[in-house]
Amino acid sequence: MIALLQNIADLLIPRYCPVCGKPLAAHERDVCTKCLTHLPRTQLHRHRFNVMEQLFAGKTPIERATGYFWYERANRYSQILQSIKYRNKPGMGTRLAKQFAIEIAPDGFFADIDAIIPIPLHSSKLAQRGYNQSEYIARGISQATRIPVMNVVTAAMPHATQTRKGNYARYLNVRGIFSLKDPESLQGKHVLLVDDVVTTGATLLSCAEMLNAEVQGIKISLATLAVARLD
Ligand SMILES: [Zn+2]
Repeated sequence: MIALLQNIADLLIPRYCPVCGKPLAAHERDVCTKCLTHLPRTQLHRHRFNVMEQLFAGKTPIERATGYFWYERANRYSQILQSIKYRNKPGMGTRLAKQFAIEIAPDGFFADIDAIIPIPLHSSKLAQRGYNQSEYIARGISQATRIPVMNVVTAAMPHATQTRKGNYARYLNVRGIFSLKDPESLQGKHVLLVDDVVTTGATLLSCAEMLNAEVQGIKISLATLAVARLD
């Protein structure tokens, strides 16, 4: 019955796969089966000192880091992030993040993690977009792992827009913008910082530095939906 209703709904308002642009079948959600099968998964969680972890080496201590798929601007898979972030489809972020967590959980990535913390958006940005995509991604990981989401970090306005800046300039731009509401609530905990995409790592670094400075005995791991290829 639900499939029939979906078929009718698809005739009225066709849904399209953001990657290949073809109409989705009634049983498909967000991304078509073929594109989901061929999603360029990073599998970074299987590699110690992987390229994502290297972004933070010698800067601030982190336990481990991974992301679901590779992000390349020229690749159609980047359209997934565009949809989640700019086309008002944050629910897609939740469902893909849930799938991501289901896929990597058997390898023990979430084993000793106590809480999931989404990278927050500054309030003016939040008002403009209407939602924080990282929070939706965090929700999906939480649904798969039963690890609670804690919205304890807040963000001040970045100094300028991030686009077209060098690595260090990007870092200076976001350094010190994050603060923590209740440092004691995280004492001795292992937290998973979640963002939509990691590029230079500036945003995650700034947030991790603040947590390492503010919270005694904290351990930090990182997960993103996409990892930009930095070559
Ligand atoms: Zn497709």
